[in-house]
Amino acid sequence: MPELPEVETVVRSLAGELAGRRVVRVLLRERRLRGGVARDFAARLEGRCIDRLARRGKYLLAWLDDGAVLLVHLGMTGQLTIAPPSRPDRVHDHVVITLDDGRLLTFNDARRFGRVAVVAGDALGEEAGEGVDPLADGFTAEALFRLTRRRRTSVKALLMDQRRIAGLGNIYVNEILFHAAVRPGRRAGRLARAECERLVAVTRRVLAAAIERGGSSISDYRDGLGRAGDFQSHHHVYDRAGEPCRRCGTAIRSRVHAGRSSFYCPRCQR
Ligand SMILES: [Zn+2]
Repeated sequence: MPELPEVETVVRSLAGELAGRRVVRVLLRERRLRGGVARDFAARLEGRCIDRLARRGKYLLAWLDDGAVLLVHLGMTGQLTIAPPSRPDRVHDHVVITLDDGRLLTFNDARRFGRVAVVAGDALGEEAGEGVDPLADGFTAEALFRLTRRRRTSVKALLMDQRRIAGLGNIYVNEILFHAAVRPGRRAGRLARAECERLVAVTRRVLAAAIERGGSSISDYRDGLGRAGDFQSHHHVYDRAGEPCRRCGTAIRSRVHAGRSSFYCPRCQR
């Protein structure tokens, strides 16, 4: 499912296409997306100009010229893509936005865990979460060290807790913990300061590398122009149970923590 690098890739692929465009018409075919789509969704978008795109955690934000924000969360299978006016309707095209140049911005989501909403700019915190973005300046070793103190939960669960750190999910947390040489099940409160330093540095590096490769396309994920990412072929541990560690050759292990699979190298990670 899409995480920070995938959402960032969508933002970058659409930023130049959408900036300055006006929304002419909004066709809402399915209200049963995550949280339900508000009755006034189309009315709040139609006629508005899109100023710029941004990202917050796993949310794509399109700032509108009246100060409101179109929020899009891709959930598990969501795709936000732009296409020529001639594109035929596809199954699961739940929201179709016609722009002033005739092109269509479409939200397609087979499993409907995604979310679309128009919210006031000053309500972003409560609508899109207050967790620190791991690519923002506020994500420092000191900040992570403080977040982990007295936490009995695993370091993996802590890194995936969107209320604290926004944007990481199961794929990238497994990859980050491998590169930081930390086992997923380690108790967060037991991390040393030096390990937090390593985790912060590795997080930035792994996310940057993933963004450079257009994210990971494991199932449905595509960028804003419909292109698949390529980072899945560079994963070191995620979904590689039984395969040899790329660093030491030991078989990668998999274990279920809190309903999600963890993947790690028993030799490289302590
Ligand atoms: Zn290894």
